Amino acid sequence: MLTDLQQQPADALLALIKLHNADPRADKIDLGVGVYKTAEGGTPVFRSIKAAERKLAAEQDTKAYLGPEGDMGFVTALMPYIFGKDSPDMGGRIEGMQTPGGTGSLRLALGMVKRAGYKRVIVGKPSWPNHNQICADLGLGVAEFNHAKADGTTDMDALRGAIASAEEGDAILLHGCCHNPTGIDYSHAEWDEIAGLLANSKLLPIIDLAYQGLGMGMEEDAYGLRRVLVAVPEALIAYSCDKNFGLYRDRVGALYAMVADPADLTKVMSNGHSLARANWSQPPDHGAAAVRLVLEDAALTADWLAELDEMRDRMRQVRAKLAAAGKTGGVDLSPIGGQNGLFSIIPFTPEQVQAMRSEYGIYFAGSGRINVAGLTMGNIDQFIAAVADVTA
Ligand code: PMP
Repeated sequence: MLTDLQQQPADALLALIKLHNADPRADKIDLGVGVYKTAEGGTPVFRSIKAAERKLAAEQDTKAYLGPEGDMGFVTALMPYIFGKDSPDMGGRIEGMQTPGGTGSLRLALGMVKRAGYKRVIVGKPSWPNHNQICADLGLGVAEFNHAKADGTTDMDALRGAIASAEEGDAILLHGCCHNPTGIDYSHAEWDEIAGLLANSKLLPIIDLAYQGLGMGMEEDAYGLRRVLVAVPEALIAYSCDKNFGLYRDRVGALYAMVADPADLTKVMSNGHSLARANWSQPPDHGAAAVRLVLEDAALTADWLAELDEMRDRMRQVRAKLAAAGKTGGVDLSPIGGQNGLFSIIPFTPEQVQAMRSEYGIYFAGSGRINVAGLTMGNIDQFIAAVADVTA
């Protein structure tokens, strides 16, 4: 009976939106949900996407089905940005398909991992909670290693240990850039080492690249992924355009598989297609078609990259200002300057998280994860003062 179902916990971040909305204070600050915000506090549609949408509305003459792989023009147009323009398909070894967001891509990637007979996925802790949730739903085990140390640097020893103790049938899921929730990424030298360690292991790498361009730049943010791909025989790449094209609710993503022998690609991707068919049949078209139109037009591409630069620069300014505050009350904000993307974690106690909400109207996740894009030059001093007071 349906009534035999167990009550599931509400999504904590969605509950936080409700709390923030209900707060009457005019100077309240929302650092919760993971969307980019401008200096004015909005999340507008990109200019380049608006232009592409106008073109799409004028030119699209059918909405007939495309198939489980979605818009392959979109999938192919992204490849030089992800894998590099010199060899975007690594000599015929990479093929992709469109998915509903990065989440859809992860769902397919992990579904393929499960079908291929893998038993367990090694995941850093903390990670984006959906990683573990999708693994659990598919019946894949999860082995966790500590992602970062208290000083705000990566815990390479923990990663080395996790790779060294990996078992037959293990895969490993790594954030390509802009780690969610810590903002703590591997350096280039660390990626070089990771690529070598993975090359000498039997682990299947799954790289989640959901924030390309929001960290150091489109090319720089692909460094780790590209480094790993040249070192290993096989990998899966879960890609999202929802942040770097601002398309969140339109659900735009892609799954790519890299294999050792191009002759195996059709077989491998047929599993992606059949899993898509069983899940959502076909991905939503609109957002991916808009991205394709941006990437097919040099002027729109240049404008999109300029918009991304602007976003990244703004987040860098916010990070620099937080870092300059240094030791603030009982916490040190300086590591935030060297972290990447939308998120950082401030080690608040649960009581301090509550006090930030009730006394200051500043809302963020219970883990202490803040969306740095929720801060502006207009509210950042108020935030720093509240942190100083609450953690003193
Ligand atoms: N991976 C990570 C690490 C994320 O943070 C997110 C989004 N929050 C995703 C994947 C999925 O993004 P989406 O499904 O919205 O494209």
